[in-house]
Amino acid sequence: MHPFSYEKVTNEHEALERARLGNATFVAGGTTLVDLMKLNVEVPTALVDINGLPLNQIEDRSDGSIRIGALVRNGDLAHDSRIQSRYRVLSEAILAGASAQLRNMATTGGNLMQRTRCYYFRDPVYPCNKRQPGAGCAAMDGYNRIHAILGASDTCIATHPSDMAVALVALDASVHIRAANGERVVPITEFHLLPGDTPDRETVIRPGELITYVTLPSGPFGPRSAYVKLRDRASYEFALASAAVALQLEGTTVRSARVALGGVATKPWRALEAEQVLTGAAANKATFLNAADAALTGAVPRRHNAYKIELAKRAVVRALADALTH
Ligand code: SF4
Repeated sequence: MHPFSYEKVTNEHEALERARLGNATFVAGGTTLVDLMKLNVEVPTALVDINGLPLNQIEDRSDGSIRIGALVRNGDLAHDSRIQSRYRVLSEAILAGASAQLRNMATTGGNLMQRTRCYYFRDPVYPCNKRQPGAGCAAMDGYNRIHAILGASDTCIATHPSDMAVALVALDASVHIRAANGERVVPITEFHLLPGDTPDRETVIRPGELITYVTLPSGPFGPRSAYVKLRDRASYEFALASAAVALQLEGTTVRSARVALGGVATKPWRALEAEQVLTGAAANKATFLNAADAALTGAVPRRHNAYKIELAKRAVVRALADALTH
């Protein structure tokens, strides 16, 4: 492990000041960062510990939205009664991820920033454009069973690992980002970037910027939402395919819908084509099958991951059926 400095800060101003020094990185739960530092994949020269910032509350807002502090632990968020009743898909997605111990440490902001589980990225022996731009990609012609079938580029086919972020896409969440010159608010669908020619850039966060909050709009979906995660084992495993869905019904007709995919794309993936199929259609199995087909129309499989197309379709159908019965 490379040498680094460590400092605790107690307010946002201090955090932003420290983050401007050298190759500094914020640390909160540390559940991804510390692993990657041990592997020499992340090599910050300074760790700025932000656990002392007052960003650990889940607050009701006067407009009906909910504001989640960036330091709210994943476990606390998943078990919050407001989240369970009004944003069920978010609670289900978080509880499908990691282990109880990790969820008790991992934070809302850190979850958004977690990095891919591509095994070539995590092993510096292999070439990886995400770890070292221009080095090549060992996964393209390597063993790519866990890799992306949506949103890939010629430089990177790594999947985004978060369950929580997929649910946030289905809920039209926004991310609040603080910089030295003010705050900006980014829709969750624009927060993560496609790899394109710069797979090392994964989010719109610029050096020295800090995630402060995530907001959930009151929205029309309420509790009629669900998350289905399919993986190699039943717990403590990343998704091979997952679906977060939310439905607004008018009688037995879908008035509006959100469909997002995880485990199959290079970023949390909003499936607009599926939403179009659902909107105005009868809420039944035939519609759900059509929506699942639409969600995967743009999929491009690699040598070992064509199975993900059918797997993701089944996740979509099951999630829609679950949401209907909630
Ligand atoms: Fe690196 Fe992306 Fe290739 Fe994995 S898929 S080896 S993360 S460039």
